[in-house]
Amino acid sequence: MSFYVYNSYGKNKEEFVPVKENHVGLYTCGPTVYNYAHIGNLRTYIFEDVLKKSFEYMSYDVKHVMNITDVGHLQSDADTGEDKMELGAKREQKTVWEIAKYYEDAFFDDCEKLNIKRPTIVCRATEHISEMIELVQILEKKGFTYIADGNVYFEIDKFPDYNKLANLTMEELEAGSRVEVDENKKNPLDFVLWFTNSKFKNQIMQWDSPWGRGFPGWHLECSAMSIKYLGERIDIHCGGIDHIPVHHTNEIAQSEAALGHKWVNYWMHGEFLVVDGGKMSKSSGDFLTLTRLIEEGFKPVEYRYFCLQSRYRKQLMFSFDALRDAGQSLKKLKSKIALIKGAVTGNETVDSNKLEAFKTSFGEQISDDLNMPNAFTVLNDVMKDDVLNALEKVTLIEDFDKVFSLELLKEEVADTSGIDEKLVNGLLADREEARNRRDWAKADEIRDRLNEMNIEIIDSKEGAAWRLKD
Ligand code: AMP
Ligand code: ZN
Repeated sequence: MSFYVYNSYGKNKEEFVPVKENHVGLYTCGPTVYNYAHIGNLRTYIFEDVLKKSFEYMSYDVKHVMNITDVGHLQSDADTGEDKMELGAKREQKTVWEIAKYYEDAFFDDCEKLNIKRPTIVCRATEHISEMIELVQILEKKGFTYIADGNVYFEIDKFPDYNKLANLTMEELEAGSRVEVDENKKNPLDFVLWFTNSKFKNQIMQWDSPWGRGFPGWHLECSAMSIKYLGERIDIHCGGIDHIPVHHTNEIAQSEAALGHKWVNYWMHGEFLVVDGGKMSKSSGDFLTLTRLIEEGFKPVEYRYFCLQSRYRKQLMFSFDALRDAGQSLKKLKSKIALIKGAVTGNETVDSNKLEAFKTSFGEQISDDLNMPNAFTVLNDVMKDDVLNALEKVTLIEDFDKVFSLELLKEEVADTSGIDEKLVNGLLADREEARNRRDWAKADEIRDRLNEMNIEIIDSKEGAAWRLKD
């Protein structure tokens, strides 16, 4: 079965053809560890996790590399503003190294809670300075750089395809990147490869280099580390949509200039999570974290489910109400699944031929540029199917959950300590009996009584279950 992905480079949905058969070399831009990830960032990491797991579901062997930016990222992606790590250190009166370690751990903690699988290789920028220096030396030798006021710049006019990914005119690119005037730049879109003479005289993170003591520009790390771990031809490179006009455009320019050939075959970008007031901004400090959602009573997996309800290339509007709705809908889904699980007698057998058609439908949806809403429809078809037995349904749910990662078969442990479960189960049995007699008035009366006890009934083909309303 072919896998289709939307390639931002060329703006087309394309059939995925790997560099090496059955393998995917995947690079995803990682966090800048100067603060907590916000739930917008986490939406992008969830999309990338689903991408990876979808390829794995389709039997590809995925090598996933992600960087940790712990040096060189200024407030603006285009070499201006304050240094983000130094800002974090100042804010919390810690060293930059302490800040980096603390927020890297916090990031992976969030990922674990969201069932985001750890990349095959996680690489820190500060541990790859020599690779970055080597890349600048190659670019220098090939004539793509110039030195001005001590900094090494990449000269974009030497790279003719500079605007191919963003597909914007130079004027639009310039306007989009809000570049602060840097008198040293020949073209305002030129970017720094190596800083020596920056405005950060007291920069703590500094290394010796052929151009003097200093530190790398932000874009450099992703090129150097992805080439080191994935080779000179990479299948997929991902990030959020904001990376298109500056970060990824610059990554392509410096990598292809150094390599002398095409570098990444498919560029995939996740659209933004937005809130009522617009963009969620880490630098303004006004943002929502996963911890905040947990404090508000939500489960991380409910946020993951909320994200999976829409396609990754569509903007997603966040509100607590919308998250609450997603949470309710996940709870209902899980209650129905619990009923199916409860209906397994132990005497069933699994007929793999019966499963195949559903697995194929599921595979078709996820390999259609990650059509997750349709993948959930296949899940629902399985749950409602008349031919599959309970064990076959459970087997398929478990299989699909390798991609969803929503713990669909894990029991919900609700706090029912204040509930007389015997009474509730008795009422539920009475209601079932009334429904069998077609005594709808009686059945409704029992439902209303349970409702008053704050109990919701969930009906499905396997029978009725109940849960405490939130
Ligand atoms: P950063 O840590 O700021 O480098 O961002 C980490 C990732 O989150 C990058 O891939 C960004 O493109 C992405 N990102 C930033 N803001 C949002 C947002 N509001 N919604 C979705 N992704 C975002
Ligand atoms: Zn990157």
